[in-house]
Amino acid sequence: MTAGSGAASEGPIVTLDGPAGSGKSSTAKAVARVLGYRHLDSGALYRALTLALLRAGIALDDWPEISEEFLLGLDVDMRPTEQGFTIWVGGAPVDTELRTQEVTEHVSHLARLPAVRRCLLDLQRRAGSGGRLVADGRDMGTVVFPDAEVKIYLVADVKERARRRLLEQGRAESDQVELALQIETIADRDRRDSQRDISPLRKAADAHEIDTTGLDFQDQVDAVVARVRRLTLS
Ligand code: C5P
Repeated sequence: MTAGSGAASEGPIVTLDGPAGSGKSSTAKAVARVLGYRHLDSGALYRALTLALLRAGIALDDWPEISEEFLLGLDVDMRPTEQGFTIWVGGAPVDTELRTQEVTEHVSHLARLPAVRRCLLDLQRRAGSGGRLVADGRDMGTVVFPDAEVKIYLVADVKERARRRLLEQGRAESDQVELALQIETIADRDRRDSQRDISPLRKAADAHEIDTTGLDFQDQVDAVVARVRRLTLS
């Protein structure tokens, strides 16, 4: 696996952590664009390893036994672009393949494994080596970039997060059965992500919490950008 910090010069690292569907990735991407920083979507790396394991036909029961060496051989790669990074699996770029229901259902089982977290830690840190990065995930502010200049923790009511997920998938938010299912799926993933032993989802002591339940997307982006400017210009 490789990652380069490319042409980015030294500068701040901004972390955005939070539960599933809190709007982290889309907010992080927009904030990075406004600031002229790169965006690192760390969840995409966990999804890429999941995709590679599913493609290799490795049964879920065997995942806990997988070694770091085996994971490194899965050919998951990250290449810097002007605005962020593209993820490659098996020698080809991947994007929508990372967001299928199958990958989403399996990813948090993989993310709790120590070999997986060790394997991705170095890759993520190298992505931040030039600074000027907005990194989103679950442990960006607590484990991967503990010295980040700005740490944000995004939260939102689970019903609102489920409603946003349905809208993203082009499904009717008014369908109460779908909504209840989505709430359950999100709550399950949150539980696995916050209760695992290594790098659990939690707010860093020095993170600033923003509740996005009542905010529209632009307000969310503006709130984060304002905070970054306040903290990095002072
Ligand atoms: O952010 P996204 O929903 O794409 O993340 C997918 C999964 O990857 C999460 O549910 C979590 O299990 C894992 N993840 C993680 N640590 C991160 C980012 C994602 O454990 N920093």
